[in-house]
Amino acid sequence: MKSLPITIDSVRKAYGSYVALDDVSLDIRAGEFLTLLGPSGSGKTTLLMALAGFVRPDSGKLLLGARDVTRLAPNRREIGIVFQNYALFPHMNVLANVEYPLMLRRIPKAEARQRALDTLARVKLDGLSERGIGALSGGQRQRVALARAIVFEPRVMLMDEPLSALDKNLRETMQYEIRRLHDDLGITTIYVTHDQREALTMSDRIAVMNSGRIQQIDAPQRIYDRPSTRFVAEFMGEANIIAPGLARKVDGTGASRETLMIRAESLHLNASLAG
Ligand code: ADP
Ligand code: MG
Repeated sequence: MKSLPITIDSVRKAYGSYVALDDVSLDIRAGEFLTLLGPSGSGKTTLLMALAGFVRPDSGKLLLGARDVTRLAPNRREIGIVFQNYALFPHMNVLANVEYPLMLRRIPKAEARQRALDTLARVKLDGLSERGIGALSGGQRQRVALARAIVFEPRVMLMDEPLSALDKNLRETMQYEIRRLHDDLGITTIYVTHDQREALTMSDRIAVMNSGRIQQIDAPQRIYDRPSTRFVAEFMGEANIIAPGLARKVDGTGASRETLMIRAESLHLNASLAG
């Protein structure tokens, strides 16, 4: 399956006078796993829903590959989506939930069934196809939502805080499995979280958002070690911020001109220098 790059070009969205997305531009490579990371209210869901077609930008463009999808209906974008609350159909069993996207696309019944069963095996739910949604654990529901998102072989996948309802151990297992699934299928993925560790462990690149703007886009290690703004430095972990002019070399010369950031774990006490 060929995956597609995504282009987000100067997208703006306001709710009344409140600017939720402030000229956001971002290029995601074909097959990349990119995470939108930011505090609650920073605009992550709005950006994802604009890509999915459920939020209409005031201005700007969205491209999947070379195709401008800015004004395309959601069901014609061929994007797999895992919503924060899973949005499964409670009155249908597991199999019917996963077959649903194929039914919408008028895939013949027997083929749809086979593909749904294969996809359930891929997310380790074989044997549960006849179960009702109400009889599943949180982790199992999460897997059904994943299966439903990938069963029609989308070339782009969007995931909005898919693990936020799960407990810590399960969350870590699922982080690993989602990344493995991504690597197997090669689907270009945008993953949303407010959890720094989750972003650091799962992503090829992280885009840190705050107040409707992207603050920095970089590989995880660079986001952590070389934050480009004070917000990113403080959001990513314990940060000691040293104002310009305060730091000097050991001989007392060369006052720093820039703001410095030192992570707590990179400070070491050296007894031989004491006294
Ligand atoms: P995040 O997913 O990062 O928590 P959202 O994209 O959901 O952030 O929201 C960004 C901002 O836009 C928030 O301040 C939120 O209250 C506001 N917002 C989101 N959707 C609407 C809406 N339909 N009407 C008014 N304000 C909204
Ligand atoms: Mg959100």
